Amino acid sequence: MTAKTCVVTGSSSGIGRAIAERFGEEGHNVAVNYRSSREGAERTAAAVEAAGGSALIAQADVTDIEAVQRMGEKVHREFGSVDVLVNNAGINQDVKFTEMTHEEWDTVLDVHLDGAFHATQTFYDDLAASEEGRLINISSIIGKGGNFGQANYATAKAGMFGFTRTLALELAPKGSTANCVAPGFIATRMVEDLPEHIKDQIREDTPLGRLGTPEEIAEIVAFLASDRSSFITGEVIDANGGKDL
Ligand code: NAD
Repeated sequence: MTAKTCVVTGSSSGIGRAIAERFGEEGHNVAVNYRSSREGAERTAAAVEAAGGSALIAQADVTDIEAVQRMGEKVHREFGSVDVLVNNAGINQDVKFTEMTHEEWDTVLDVHLDGAFHATQTFYDDLAASEEGRLINISSIIGKGGNFGQANYATAKAGMFGFTRTLALELAPKGSTANCVAPGFIATRMVEDLPEHIKDQIREDTPLGRLGTPEEIAEIVAFLASDRSSFITGEVIDANGGKDL
C-alpha cells in the first residue's frame, strides 16, 4: 500500500486519536493537529509511530486561519503535499436555546464550520492535485436529528452536510472525493462527561444497546480515505448503532 499524507484536526484525543492511529496502521504520514493538549498530541503521535506510520505534531487552533496556514507550511515542509484531510476538531457547549448566549452560539459554529473552512482552504489544492484526494468531515447524528440543548452544535453539524456535498461537487472534476461521517454516541470524553442516567438513556435508545467506540469510527474513515471508496462522494455515512431507526 502506498503511504499517504493525512491531516487529522483535533487528534490529541478521542475519535481524532483513533483515526490518526488507524492511519498509522496503514503506514501513512499523519499530521496530528492539536489546540492545547501537547501531551495528548504526543501520545497520539507515539501511537501512530507504534502502529507503523510517521507522525508530525502540528499545533493550531482551527478557528485561527493564520495558525492553520502556518500548520499547512509545516506539514508541507515535513511531509509534502496532503492526500487526506479529516475535519474532526469539535466542541460542544450545551444549553437550552432560551439561555444560549451569542458567544456560545459563535464559539461552537466557529470550531466546526470556520475550522473546517480554514483547514479545507489550506489543503484544498493538495486534495485536488492528489491522485486520490480525500476530504472527510466528522459530523454527527445530532446534525440530522437535533437534540435538546444543542442548537449550536446541531446547526454546526448540519452545516457540515452542505459543506461536504458542495466540496464533493467542486473536487469531483479533479477525481477527488468529499464525504462525511455522522457518528451516533461514541465513548469519548464528549459523552463520558454526561451524567450516568443520560448515558443509560442513550444506551436504552440505541438498538445495539451500547455506545460506539472511537475505533469503529476510525475504521469508516480509513475506508473513506482508501482507494476502496473511490466511487463514493458527497455521502453521509451513519454509524449510530441504529439510534435513528
Ligand atoms: P474529543 O473532545 O475527545 O475530541 C475533540 C478534539 O477537538 C479535541 O482533541 C479538542 O482539543 C479538539 N479541538 C477542539 N477545538 C479545537 C480547535 N479550535 N482547534 C483544534 N482542535 C480543537 O471528542 P470526540 O468525541 O473525539 O470528538 C471528535 C469529533 O467527533 C468532534 O467533531 C465531535 O463533534 C464529533 N462527534 C463526536 C461524537 C461523540 O459521541 N463523541 C458523536 C458525533 C460526532
